[in-house]
Amino acid sequence: MPLQSLQRQGNPLADAANQLLILEQLGEGVVPFFHQTLEEHGLPAPTAQAVETLQINLGKLCNQTCRHCHVDAGPDRREIMSRDTMEQCLDVLTWSNIRSVDLTGGAPEMNPDFEWFVAEIRRLDRHVIDRCNLTILTSPAYTHLSDFFAEHKVEIVASLPCYLEENCDSQRGDGVFQRSIDALRLLNERGYGKPSSELRLNLVYNPVGATLPPDQQKLAKAYREQLRDRFGIEFNELFTITNMPISRFLDDLQRSHQYEQYMELLVTAFNPQAVEGVMCRSTLSIDWKGYLYDCDFNQMLNLRVDLSLAQHISEYDEASFARRPIRTGRHCYGCTAGAGSSCQGALLS
Ligand code: SF4
Ligand code: SF4
Repeated sequence: MPLQSLQRQGNPLADAANQLLILEQLGEGVVPFFHQTLEEHGLPAPTAQAVETLQINLGKLCNQTCRHCHVDAGPDRREIMSRDTMEQCLDVLTWSNIRSVDLTGGAPEMNPDFEWFVAEIRRLDRHVIDRCNLTILTSPAYTHLSDFFAEHKVEIVASLPCYLEENCDSQRGDGVFQRSIDALRLLNERGYGKPSSELRLNLVYNPVGATLPPDQQKLAKAYREQLRDRFGIEFNELFTITNMPISRFLDDLQRSHQYEQYMELLVTAFNPQAVEGVMCRSTLSIDWKGYLYDCDFNQMLNLRVDLSLAQHISEYDEASFARRPIRTGRHCYGCTAGAGSSCQGALLS
């Protein structure tokens, strides 16, 4: 079907199932099925190896409305995880081998039960990662959070799409860069990102346009020099992440008539070596209602875990999830292009 006939009318991308349909229809005849490409390279369909990390989406509420947000988050969204659902997650953590909890959103900190939840997870001696947009740490109601994070030894993974103010603000909104720098200083003052400290501060880069990220190590060096020399800021690692062709970024690609070009870029750059490490093999994603997905991206497409499995965290069973089949689609090319991409950055050095 021609791209133009699928252009959005109203706001169908707000609806995840509709978005998956659009993605599949747009790809028809243009982008090969992901499973076909795997077969051509002699690779089996991916299956999970273990569930090591629970990635929990605490809701779509956010203080920003970034151009490339794959969650379509913003200040007007009302979907947030309840304490009951958090308790179901905690219950699983008490008896399972899951060692790490990765909190995401929206801005996860805006969930009113965020601090209680983090404290409970840490009481169970699990590692906690907070995916932080930085500006939330300078918002009046949240300035105490940098102390809270240090006290609970929460690892921070913070978005900073560029060390240049203009590029950062064009993607994330006016004034975001300067507030992000202020937040990074706050975290550094608490000991985050210092070579001798156990408090880890990692940054996330994603391209401003419809391109692949550059080499992660080289970019990390440039970030380190720029942030240290210009602002005195330190951090541990830089993660480069490919923009996924879903949600607000898909919308952007459609509007700028770059969908086919971007998908061709991802397909051409398909790297069979990256398939082994895709994050769905070791992570399980949970939405704000407690439903289960192979990854955060499948969650945004409402593509739940294989139907032979429990669909909700209250019914989670470790044995069957550890080796589960993964539900893939054309969006998976975003994880396997070039050096590969995951929430922990490039998959290959
Ligand atoms: S990308 Fe992150 S900070 Fe930006 S709107 Fe989405 S959830 Fe919020
Ligand atoms: S998009 Fe999700 S399911 Fe597909 S390869 Fe990436 S992590 Fe796995």
